[in-house]
Amino acid sequence: GGRGIGSRILNDELPRGIDPLGPENLLILSNGPLSGTAAPGSGRVDVAAKSPMNGYRAVTNFGGYWGAELMHAGFAHLIVQGASDTPVYVVIENENVAIRDARHLWGLDTYETATRLRRELNDEEFQVLSIGPAGERLVRFASILTGLGDAAGRSGMGAVMGSKRLKAIAVRGTRGVELSDPPRFMELASDLHRRLRESPGFKESARSKPVTDSMFSKSYENLLAFGNYEDGRWDQFSKLEPEKFFSRRQLRRAGCFGCPMQCMHLVEVPGAGCGISFCTPFLSFLGTVWNEDLTTMWEAIILANRFGLDVVETGGIIALLMELYREGVISPAATDGIPMARGDRRAILETIRKIAMREGVGDLLAEGPLRTAEALDRRAHEFLVLVKNHFPHGYQFPAFEGASLLQAVGSADPFPTYGTGVEIRLSMPGPREKMLAEARELFGSEEAYLTGNYSLSKVRMVIDAEHRSRIPDLLGVCIYVIDGYIKGSSEPFFFYDRLADLYQAASGKPMNREALFTAAERVVNLERCLDAREGLTRKQDALPQRFFRSFPGGAHRGKRLDPQKMEEMKSLYYKTRGWDPESGLPRPEKLEQLGLKGIVQTPD
Ligand code: SF4
Repeated sequence: GGRGIGSRILNDELPRGIDPLGPENLLILSNGPLSGTAAPGSGRVDVAAKSPMNGYRAVTNFGGYWGAELMHAGFAHLIVQGASDTPVYVVIENENVAIRDARHLWGLDTYETATRLRRELNDEEFQVLSIGPAGERLVRFASILTGLGDAAGRSGMGAVMGSKRLKAIAVRGTRGVELSDPPRFMELASDLHRRLRESPGFKESARSKPVTDSMFSKSYENLLAFGNYEDGRWDQFSKLEPEKFFSRRQLRRAGCFGCPMQCMHLVEVPGAGCGISFCTPFLSFLGTVWNEDLTTMWEAIILANRFGLDVVETGGIIALLMELYREGVISPAATDGIPMARGDRRAILETIRKIAMREGVGDLLAEGPLRTAEALDRRAHEFLVLVKNHFPHGYQFPAFEGASLLQAVGSADPFPTYGTGVEIRLSMPGPREKMLAEARELFGSEEAYLTGNYSLSKVRMVIDAEHRSRIPDLLGVCIYVIDGYIKGSSEPFFFYDRLADLYQAASGKPMNREALFTAAERVVNLERCLDAREGLTRKQDALPQRFFRSFPGGAHRGKRLDPQKMEEMKSLYYKTRGWDPESGLPRPEKLEQLGLKGIVQTPD
């Protein structure tokens, strides 16, 4: 289901080599078989298309309430084909689907679009998914957004939606979800909700004051990479006083359909606006751009939400300009007269606006960091920090071999979860023995979770993390619910067993944990072949040069990846997966074993 179906449709129907912003591209919004049900965190929607950021399969999804509403209207998937000559929006009300004129909505931001559409449709219950001015102008890292901040940010899906002149999709569903065995399903789901609420991970996050405790702790700070991956230390971070800033402005926790975690924060800042956010946007508009002012951070988040821009790429490209300016590679003349000084409020906010409106230098920046560097200055290329043309999340990856391998072989800056998350968490103070025992049991050695090695057990851990993170994507469940449960739990497989039971009760088809993991492996292989059609080989599984040098400061100063050992670990990864280490592509026998022979189209 979910992401797997999206990948299969792309595999079967997308011609190779097409322009991601041309009418041939498909935009596929996929629920999973548990979406919109009482399963915890069942509001996640996968978005599939050929990405305008790197030409591979997009890797992004969003939460909120839109997906559950679509499911309740009776649709698991929505495929958008072709392109309209004029702006349109789609309205779905149970089985009734209509395409309507959206010329009056074109130019509105995402918040305005939702408000206007609900008023027009005369029903506040409609869930609206839309693009802002950035998507309309085909900014390559434009997002699509629902609610006040639930966005599919990575991979430029807003640009794909904009290329189809599709402004919004409004959904209202009142029919619920049909289940094969409702009593059994409800029994399983209630038990899972109860266990989640009683889990150490849930209790820890419920105890903490949402923004301040988790986001601004010393141990978290020690993981962060600042600026354009320039340093692991920034003294201003600990002086930010988030407690003071958020105490009156944080309205409540917020989250998605049916989720007990409520991991996000509803914040209102007078003059800047109200929105929902979580840790990633905070990082993008604080440490990444050396910004010491929390009001500016919040203004930047709201601007990105309203314009429909991915926060990670936006923060990353501003950080690149700031470093180029600091190093004397560019002058203010290159950025429309704005000096790109570190942390400068005008530089941050004006650049966001210019990108979204493709105004002045924004027209170049909207093409992404690689094209920007090529056009700005020959030397700018040396400053790029990109993983398959994506600016990576702001963590000190060079200190973590497993999380770095995950980055190298993933297709769009995969977030470190499961084993790779444990690898990172073990660098923080806290009990270690339980985690190390788990590493021994699951992967054959403590090295899987410990840093400073490139071992086979670490490779196994990364492959396991890839499969564990695919499973929720296939089912329509949020990865962070499972990750939150597993944190501190001594039952690393319980949640997966229960997901298999839920699938069985929902669909009436037999399922168990092993079959779920095999399905995840099948989708990893399918997507690898899909990307290979667009030119992906081992060569593109490359990490930025800055991962191979130590940060000048910070808790992990002195740690860096060894390029030779990293290449050897990649070879080990391909072999363990049953892929050819030369090309990095699945071998025919692996495809046959997974039932993919004759289904996937591999390169000639
Ligand atoms: S864990 Fe957070 S992102 Fe995931 S479904 Fe729950 S509230 Fe949404």
